Amino acid sequence: MEITKTQNSRLSSVDFDNLEFGRKFSDHMIDVTFKNGSWQEPQITPYAPISFHPSMHALHYGQAVFEGMKAYYVDDETINLFRLDDHHERISNSSERMCIPSMEKEIFIDTLEALIRLDHKWVPKTKGHALYIRPFVFASEEYIAARAAKEYRYMVITSPVAAYYKEGFNPVSLTTTDNYVRAVKGGTGEAKAAGNYGGSFLPAQKAQAEGYTQVLWLDAKENKYVEEVGTMNIFFKINGKLVTPELGGTVLPGITRRSVIAQAKAWDVDVEERRISIDEVFDAHKDGSLEEIFGSGTAAVISPVGLIHHKGDTIELDRDNIGPFAKKMYDTITGIQYGELNDPFNWVHPVKVG
Ligand code: PMP
Repeated sequence: MEITKTQNSRLSSVDFDNLEFGRKFSDHMIDVTFKNGSWQEPQITPYAPISFHPSMHALHYGQAVFEGMKAYYVDDETINLFRLDDHHERISNSSERMCIPSMEKEIFIDTLEALIRLDHKWVPKTKGHALYIRPFVFASEEYIAARAAKEYRYMVITSPVAAYYKEGFNPVSLTTTDNYVRAVKGGTGEAKAAGNYGGSFLPAQKAQAEGYTQVLWLDAKENKYVEEVGTMNIFFKINGKLVTPELGGTVLPGITRRSVIAQAKAWDVDVEERRISIDEVFDAHKDGSLEEIFGSGTAAVISPVGLIHHKGDTIELDRDNIGPFAKKMYDTITGIQYGELNDPFNWVHPVKVG
């Protein structure tokens, strides 16, 4: 790999007490080109604008996928990455679905380690803060033809981000929608494809205009079974059991979801990955067996849900506090990520930077 270091670090311009998600980017980025049938030598270069022709394929046909992960400060010698194998597996699956060549695992990991070593001072030191890592791949060929491109770029940029919750947890409110769907079986819903997000912004905006934080997606066929939230998977604690929608092709297989399930099982909590209808959730609330609802995702880790609206009916849980199970899950997963707790599952990938 070829590394070109910046001559002008922008680190001193960052106000680590006022970080805005996804606004400031660290000094370096990874840039790998795919052409003539293979990935070329990886480059690490100063973060800078890139140039492309208006005919660049991804702009027209949306052949683009991405990942979202974080680097966590442990001490001045160690930065932790989390479940790298799983993120590599997911970007490979997303790529396959979008007809994009996949990046070899060794290059994925080696370039990430090199980038973190180079920009380790960009990893915020405050617990809860982290360096957000955004790998992405897009069709870079200059060619307007509605078929898979022959040239791609794999890039990784990183951005220091604050804890999702600065002053306590704020339970979010969700609404279902009759007018839009997120994913259908056989579609691209289980891939982290750029276009999935583009298609979700209008329904999300409408939900927000009605006073809800996000859309709670139901299945596209019957508009009956719960699937997921904008950038989170969803969990219901019912009668002591943890219930989460099965994956089945339309739900993004969240790495945090997978971690929550593994941790819950390790605590001997029954976990059910199955279809769960919105009516079952409302009935469980009525009969008092619905204990907690929370979302899971890299950004917030665990996000309590305080309200769900569906066709004029509303269920409200505790709208001010996180539930005890969700809090314990949050403390445990973040404890592992920041190297404060043992890592019995071997999730953490420490990078030595000192
Ligand atoms: N669903 C969607 C649609 C998402 O974008 C995300 C965020 N990647 C998630 C779920 C949660 O996935 P993860 O736990 O891997 O961040």
